[in-house]
Amino acid sequence: MTLPLMRNYIDGEWVESDATTWGDVFNPAKGEKIARVAYGTAADVDRAVQAALAVFPIWRETPPLTRARYLFRLKDAFEENFEEIAETLTTEHGKAIDEARGEVRRMIENVEHATGVTTLMCGYTLEDIAKNIDCYGHRQPMGVFGCIAPYNFPAMVPWWFLPYAVVTGNTFVFKPSEQVPMTQTKIMEIVDEVGFPEGVINMVHGSRDVVNAMLDHPGIQGISFVGSTPTARHIYQRCGATGKRVQALGGAKNIVAVMPDADLDQGMPSLLTSFFGCTGQRCLSGSVLVPVGDAADGVVERFVAGARTVSVGDGLDEQTFMGPLISAAHRQRVLGYIEKGIAEGADLVLDGRDAKVDGYPEGFFVGPTIFDNVTPAMTLAREEIFGPVVSIVRAPDMNAVVELVNTRGFANAACIYTTSGAAAREFKYRVKPTMIGVNIGIAAPMSFFPFGGAGNSMFGDIKGHGQEAFLFYTDMKVVIERWY
Ligand code: NAD
Repeated sequence: MTLPLMRNYIDGEWVESDATTWGDVFNPAKGEKIARVAYGTAADVDRAVQAALAVFPIWRETPPLTRARYLFRLKDAFEENFEEIAETLTTEHGKAIDEARGEVRRMIENVEHATGVTTLMCGYTLEDIAKNIDCYGHRQPMGVFGCIAPYNFPAMVPWWFLPYAVVTGNTFVFKPSEQVPMTQTKIMEIVDEVGFPEGVINMVHGSRDVVNAMLDHPGIQGISFVGSTPTARHIYQRCGATGKRVQALGGAKNIVAVMPDADLDQGMPSLLTSFFGCTGQRCLSGSVLVPVGDAADGVVERFVAGARTVSVGDGLDEQTFMGPLISAAHRQRVLGYIEKGIAEGADLVLDGRDAKVDGYPEGFFVGPTIFDNVTPAMTLAREEIFGPVVSIVRAPDMNAVVELVNTRGFANAACIYTTSGAAAREFKYRVKPTMIGVNIGIAAPMSFFPFGGAGNSMFGDIKGHGQEAFLFYTDMKVVIERWY
């Protein structure tokens, strides 16, 4: 069978890459190849940037409300194709179809929020800053922006950035993850139908060569990146060297504390979703569960019992709660962490290594896995595993919880389950992560709030989406004016 080839979308056309190397795209539930993707070149990137540069002067002077109208049309087109996008996403990524739907919904919410450009892009003004002198600042688009995306949210992540960049008058070049290129290819078909001016939105498939060509290209003003911490650090440093704006969102090691007074009847469903939803492959997934004080035995017992009920299978099956991991290589990596946890002396109380799914013998599955009595120094409690592996670190009190959270290096999200307002306040006040959940296991800011962590989870200062997006994609020009 010939596999479909994922092509680049440049200057309003579907074009072949100059690539000499190609990658395989898998259906991770079946372990089967389903498409091929070009590992594009610097020449592909240059073609996209030249197209984006050429249309920039025209797009820039298009009134903001007219630019927003393209997004209104796009929102309707996304709604019409909602189910097809979600199915493509699950097919190449593996996540449960309902999670895919949730992701597509979040993608659309960014399109919706960006249509507020006529309010959110405004500058400010002050008369009489000195005798007869007025001053005003307005926000101007800067040119071409780039985005480099991870595999774990194939639909949503580029759309944390794209709608804001283009609605403010910039043009855009982005690279989806080479592991999941089909979803954005489907999405670009919809963009093409909506009919943005050619060159405003461009997609180049590929791997590191495309990334590095984007980082080095003098025609790109700034980069929005989401991915692992080592890559985020590389992006940040190289953007510094080439003088680009940058927001680089990295990896995570999220701690979820359960206080002795927590309402577990209410909390258990969202706790299980935190750790096992998306097969633990979210930057906001719970990774370390911290039962506090003398209620710990009861928390662990109920959590393990809940984990045993998690259904593992093909994400396209509506009954599946947890799909496979993204690849055979990532499965091996996660299994390696389980081996390491055993070797370092943690207690394996639920073992997902032998997860089998009927009819899917080649799928990249790992079942829910739980270690108890993990210590803060163990690898399990320090490194990002990005799979359905829970490390339970028991803590005596709030001070120990805060100490654990604030010594991980990563500082993306942290959650607390409690019925005490005072405990919640102390937690959110003292911990370093900047996305906080209170009786919420996935602290995911919606499109109209900023998204991003601190420490090794974020390099750069302006976070994704929210009102901040309108700052990242514009420069403030200040005019000081006197008329005689
Ligand atoms: P990754 O860093 O391997 O890849 C991300 C992107 O960078 C891909 O497009 C890839 O092609 C490119 N890339 C990878 N290595 C590179 C290199 N050496 N040089 C240049 N480019 C390179 O990340 P991933 O495995 O695709 O995604 C999972 C990671 O993303 C996890 O660490 C997760 O926590 C993180 N993530 C973070 C957030 C957040 O908001 N902080 C959101 C989603 C995912």
